[in-house]
Amino acid sequence: MLLERLSNACGVSGDESGVRALLKEILAPRVDEMWTDPMGNLIVRKGSGPVRVMLDAHMDEVGFLVGEITDEGYLSLRKVGGLDDRVLPGRQVWVGHRRIPGVIGAKAWHLCSPEERKKVIPFDDMYVDLGCRSRAEVEALGIELGDPVYFATEFELMGDRVAKGKALDDRVGCTVLARVLLEYDFPGITLLGAFTTQEEVGLRGAQVAAYHLKPDVALALEGTGSANVAGVDPFDTITNMGEGPVISLMDASGIPHKRVWDELVRLAREHGIRHQFRRMTAGGTDAGAIARAREGVPVCTISVPCRYIHTNAALCHLDDVDGAVQLVRRFLESVEKGEFRP
Ligand SMILES: [Zn+2]
Repeated sequence: MLLERLSNACGVSGDESGVRALLKEILAPRVDEMWTDPMGNLIVRKGSGPVRVMLDAHMDEVGFLVGEITDEGYLSLRKVGGLDDRVLPGRQVWVGHRRIPGVIGAKAWHLCSPEERKKVIPFDDMYVDLGCRSRAEVEALGIELGDPVYFATEFELMGDRVAKGKALDDRVGCTVLARVLLEYDFPGITLLGAFTTQEEVGLRGAQVAAYHLKPDVALALEGTGSANVAGVDPFDTITNMGEGPVISLMDASGIPHKRVWDELVRLAREHGIRHQFRRMTAGGTDAGAIARAREGVPVCTISVPCRYIHTNAALCHLDDVDGAVQLVRRFLESVEKGEFRP
């Protein structure tokens, strides 16, 4: 399964080479042109019609870098992207491209005072235990400062339609974009797929890609938070996993272009695609950077709801992924037929 392969690939922001290599291999037979720009964005082109449509999905995932190697043989980490300290102790990680296994350790619960037990363990007090006893042993493994560190989570299905994996933000978006390229043709438009870098640290790859590609219109494809889980008030769920792709209303990076948004809602209704709106306005997506490229680009974000996003194990519903593919497909058809004119 495509989502499985992409989730299991590793690419902390700034070192997306593993994800890029996999996408190149998957997409090469089905695109007309493919190149990597100086920021590391993988760009693919399909078709050469008059309207240029950019579809964006970021390749990078939240994770860590090796910040220090101690004399005793432990690693201290630097965070890359937004991570919740509450969910880190005890997690298994992979260090470096060779995926050397480690565990995020911290002072044992038995040794904590009653006061300490009530508090979140500060990130600075955590370390990675590789089973080494000295700096020399760590160095003998080939580990160096700056090596990427990933959550060690293998993708799996829970039941038939719920997927569990690391980095679903934004490998679900990469999956939707790759599937659109693999499964459909739109010869009447120039379709530009941008698999971007460094979203999690400031929408950086997309900013450059949008400048470079000069799109007439764009969609950002994302994984977004979902909290329709036990104990959360229905008004506070952000989005509901399993209830369709999400059309963004507004977030901290921007407000969707009104006509693109209207068209997506019209198409979802016309084609009976179950959809929902994101009810939280915090956070940002690549759409925020794309909108401000050159003279401005009409853009909207379509997301797949992901529970436990930015943790070692996020969940998403495969029906939501399918729905997102259909919504993007219908939008591209609409542009191709001239029903929607940017
Ligand atoms: Zn994302």
